[in-house]
Amino acid sequence: MVFNEVLIVDPVIGCAPGRVETHNHLISAVIPQECKPEYLLMPGFVDLHTHAQKGIDTMFAGQEEYTRWAQNNFEQGVTTFLPTTVSASIKNLKNVLRKADRLPLSIDGIHLEGPFINPAKKGAQNAEFIISAKDCDLSEIIKEPVRIVTAAPEVEGFDTLHEECQKKDAVLSIGHTAATYETMKRAYEMGVRRITHFPNALSPLLHREIGATGAGLYLDFDLEMIVDGIHSSPEFVDLVYRVKGSDRILLITDSMAAAGLEDGEYTLGGLAVFVKGGKAVLKDGTLAGSTLLFIEGVRNFYRFTRCSYGDLVKVSSWNALKQLKLEATVGRIHPGYLANFVLLDKSLNLKKTVFQGELVFSA
Ligand code: FE
Repeated sequence: MVFNEVLIVDPVIGCAPGRVETHNHLISAVIPQECKPEYLLMPGFVDLHTHAQKGIDTMFAGQEEYTRWAQNNFEQGVTTFLPTTVSASIKNLKNVLRKADRLPLSIDGIHLEGPFINPAKKGAQNAEFIISAKDCDLSEIIKEPVRIVTAAPEVEGFDTLHEECQKKDAVLSIGHTAATYETMKRAYEMGVRRITHFPNALSPLLHREIGATGAGLYLDFDLEMIVDGIHSSPEFVDLVYRVKGSDRILLITDSMAAAGLEDGEYTLGGLAVFVKGGKAVLKDGTLAGSTLLFIEGVRNFYRFTRCSYGDLVKVSSWNALKQLKLEATVGRIHPGYLANFVLLDKSLNLKKTVFQGELVFSA
């Protein structure tokens, strides 16, 4: 496959016009060209936090649903993602992991969000299933194919959970927490470096107690962000970008079943969710995931922050791939890297998605 006269956007080298060639699964050549490209070619997007899309839900999916989900995500430019659970019984979570034992190639594993969170910051998680980390045998659910675990640092057994995650090579991420700054700092000093859907379901930043939100800005945490213009205002997204820079932000969708579908009534973790104008809420008005599609989040971030393409590639794929420890083989437009990339026009409309050297979407 050959892409001629495109603006190549690489997270390490930056932007340059040129020609990209693929052979089998890999990028075989990147050749500089003097030209005025109309299209951008950048690594495929990575979504590390997505509960559901177009009616397919992690909590109920089997092999056939995961295959459809992977195909649907190619239409959003997503070439790597982690289906994400919600707080549920250990039996149900074990069942999800069992059904995820053979995943399509673009699904790298599962993100467990909950059940070890603070009920006071449950958001749209079902309180019935929230437990402390010392109330179960962690090895039953912290295992393949789990890549990320979201938990609150104030729950009992957090230290043991941290050890178990390290042992199993899963990334521990702080979320749904009422932690004080001191508690956040302690987790940071233990080696935890990630925060889930910042600043949603976190203790707020107050000037005498900066909480989990302040810790996210002040310490060197990586921050997931849902950039749908609903979970945070455009100004807040820009503020975080100015404080943290592009190396510490990861775009996610946190999407629920209505993403890619019409407004209406849906469910999330057994709770009824009402979607109106693309906004998903529980009966009491609590936000319940998003209906964001990844490509829209990419466009929003670009618009809200006026960042460079070089920064956009970091927040949309590179930072996430580093967390998955895949950056030696995926995420660059560079010879020898897997040919996972998207072709976009200058308004960031998706034109093509290539996955492992194969054209999997064309607009
Ligand atoms: Fe959440």
